[in-house]
Amino acid sequence: MIIVLTGAPGAGKGTQAELLAKREGYRKVSTGDALRKHVKLGTQIGKVAHSIMERGELVSDEILFKVLKEELLTSAPEDVVLLDGYPRNIDQARTLDSLGDAQRVKAVVQLEVPRAELIARLSGRRVCGGCGATYHQTENPPTRAGICDKCGGTVAQRVDDRPEAVAVRLDVYVRSTAPVVQYYREKGLVKQVSGVGELESIYKDLRGVIGAL
Ligand SMILES: [Zn+2]
Repeated sequence: MIIVLTGAPGAGKGTQAELLAKREGYRKVSTGDALRKHVKLGTQIGKVAHSIMERGELVSDEILFKVLKEELLTSAPEDVVLLDGYPRNIDQARTLDSLGDAQRVKAVVQLEVPRAELIARLSGRRVCGGCGATYHQTENPPTRAGICDKCGGTVAQRVDDRPEAVAVRLDVYVRSTAPVVQYYREKGLVKQVSGVGELESIYKDLRGVIGAL
């Protein structure tokens, strides 16, 4: 069963998906993690994706689907798969539908956060270059400045979390993702959860919605 977690950059999808995976045993699949794996291994796809992300741009649908398909086809039918950050446009949604019944999207859970709060969250975000763990400059800094609590890697601001890149990302999100949500709404698959408030409270709401599917 595939559940798409959607929401703007900074809405907290990644954090919530990680909690749901850890506590409920759901399998978390994100194009970001899959791409990082390729970048780390230094594959051809990884090299291309790295240079694109450094410019604050989005990796092509073709590359994303290639790395995603690898992950989805290794899932067992009884797995609950949380798809984080994909699909981001109608073409990606249709491509995902082409995978067949075993990979059918069961629901789209949308985390909703106002734009002003997204900008505050994103410009303060810091990410570990080693393991991908996320921190926040003021809300959730690592114990030692610039050093990851989990793996000892370097924690820094990603190029695409700089204010000018943040604005571009939010605009791209609004332009491309609204039709995707509409696409799934017409299929009656969209469930909305507020992404504002305490982490645990949002988690409880999310788990309730997914558990009822
Ligand atoms: Zn780390």
